[in-house]
Amino acid sequence: MNKKILVTGGLGFIGSHTVVALQERGFDVVIIDNLSNSSIEVLGGITKITRISPEFENLDLRDKQSVNNFFEKYQDIDGVIHFAASKAVGESVQNPLLYYENNLNSLIYLLQQLKEKEAPKFIFSSSCTVYGQADELPITENAPVKKAESPYGNTKQIGEEIIFDTCSAVPHLKAISLRYFNPIGAHHSANIGELPIGTPQNLVPYITQTAAGKREQLSIFGNDYPTPDGTCIRDYIHVMDLARAHVIALERLLDNEQENNYEVFNLGTGKGNSVLEAVQAFEKVSGKKLPYTFVDRREGDIVAAYADTTKANRVLNWTAEFNIEDAMESAWKWQQKLEEKN
Ligand code: UDP
Repeated sequence: MNKKILVTGGLGFIGSHTVVALQERGFDVVIIDNLSNSSIEVLGGITKITRISPEFENLDLRDKQSVNNFFEKYQDIDGVIHFAASKAVGESVQNPLLYYENNLNSLIYLLQQLKEKEAPKFIFSSSCTVYGQADELPITENAPVKKAESPYGNTKQIGEEIIFDTCSAVPHLKAISLRYFNPIGAHHSANIGELPIGTPQNLVPYITQTAAGKREQLSIFGNDYPTPDGTCIRDYIHVMDLARAHVIALERLLDNEQENNYEVFNLGTGKGNSVLEAVQAFEKVSGKKLPYTFVDRREGDIVAAYADTTKANRVLNWTAEFNIEDAMESAWKWQQKLEEKN
């Protein structure tokens, strides 16, 4: 019998790629998604790649009764990968209560259900935002967690604390938090990818939409940072590498290989690229010149962040296989596919 995994937010950007990776590895998948920031068409994209249609429940995890009913109906869940959350930094500043309600209540309700199970396994979608501007680069998992820059970032910090405390109190609960650096790219088939609603806030969808003619030019936020070319540095990781890491982390839980019942891993390439280098990588793989202009720094942006991936390499035996050019190529292919549809 295949193991059955619940993927919350499984129609979202990272969630959908993880569903594909899980199915390809022989897991059965049930998706919970409330379609607040995703499209039902993603289900078709997943099925096109894997030829397996995952089970799907349109459900809002803020509704405790619905969560309870779900676990009543699906008693055979072997593990949960929890992506469902609001993720726009700016929006979280405007509407913090929405973020705290959405990102924390859903987590609590899931854990309340899981701790009643015999051998619950839980993977949490966390972020390198928990480090803020780290004092040392590359950033290891031991770097101190800094005061969050936004309510969104705070929900990731509090989320990790909630899981840590619950794992301390409930020893049979096994959990892993994965701290992503900057996820970009799309499935190489271009059947699934990132679907930003409205004007993209993140760099890569803004780049691809600009190249597709939907945006006039890219605004690069600041060129006077203390970096070699003056623009900020990030660790851009291909979403397919990220998806694979979730499967590996899940198998670690299912095989009871953990050293502690709560573990944390950075997921990045270990390489930092500036905004200008990201633009150049895009231009190289697309063969297109990208119009851009320098504007003021964006409030809250940190200067540089890239991962020390030693722990994930050693403990999970996972290393990013794709580089920024591979990721840009897949993001561009996906954007072109979207343009064909419209
Ligand atoms: N960025 C930019 N123009 C944009 C969007 C992003 O110059 O339209 C820069 C941003 O300042 C940061 C990098 O691109 O240095 C990555 O930003 P993104 O929002 O994608 O991720 P973040 O690291 O902020 O989570």
